[in-house]
Amino acid sequence: MGDERDAERRISQQAEELARSNDELAQFAHVASHDLSEPLRTVAGFVQLLAQRYQGRLDADADEFIGFALDGVTRMQALIQDLLTYSRVSRLEYKLDSVDAQAVVTELAEANSGPGAVTCSALPIVQADPGQLRRVLQNLIGNGLKFVPPGRAPHVRVSAARDGDKWCFAVEDNGIGVPAQHHERIFKMFQRLDSQDDFPGTGIGLAVCQRIIERHRGDIWVESTEGVGSTFFFTLPVPTRSEPSQPVIAQ
Ligand code: ADP
Repeated sequence: MGDERDAERRISQQAEELARSNDELAQFAHVASHDLSEPLRTVAGFVQLLAQRYQGRLDADADEFIGFALDGVTRMQALIQDLLTYSRVSRLEYKLDSVDAQAVVTELAEANSGPGAVTCSALPIVQADPGQLRRVLQNLIGNGLKFVPPGRAPHVRVSAARDGDKWCFAVEDNGIGVPAQHHERIFKMFQRLDSQDDFPGTGIGLAVCQRIIERHRGDIWVESTEGVGSTFFFTLPVPTRSEPSQPVIAQ
């Protein structure tokens, strides 16, 4: 009996510590990205001015250097923007509401791809924070359209199946695939498997998806065959009747 209580106490302590360290990381990401964006705006402004006024008027090396500086600044701005997003999805309260997943996917498909590139089966109405669920689907569909080998037309298919007390969503692509040894690593911040030249990105999108799904008390993972494609799965709990219809996740 005493052993059981000790074990329970240890688990609850560990959960508290994990929640605290997640909070600290989110706080750090917020401060770092917020404070960095101001001086970076200044650098970006002056590098752009240099490009406008002097590109083609100095020598070829200078043009190349200005190009590199512009690329660097643009990438850093994308990183800071994504870090701020990570911090927001970690810190802000989520308000659960009924979300029509099919409407979200249809809208994302129309906005982001050519006809037929994104298809979906009948998708359910789920209880989720509407903005955050949209972000998860947007990141996963966007990756599915992006990580295809040259010359292959991308195709992403979204489906969902009820599995007991949860919905399990699948976002399947016909892209380059993810080697098995990296299936967990890619959900960590800044972990990218490909070069910026082949597939540009910040390496924060999947960390954002994982954080959002964790806060909805679901799971997210990938299954993949290299060279053939990947399927990203995530689950969302179906609220039981006794749960309030619009709970706020406080964690
Ligand atoms: P980003 O897309 O900005 O690189 P993500 O966090 O979304 O960052 O993804 C991390 C890494 O996981 C990617 O750089 C890529 O190597 C791999 N990855 C993600 N989605 C896919 C996919 N659909 N197919 C193949 N690789 C993927």
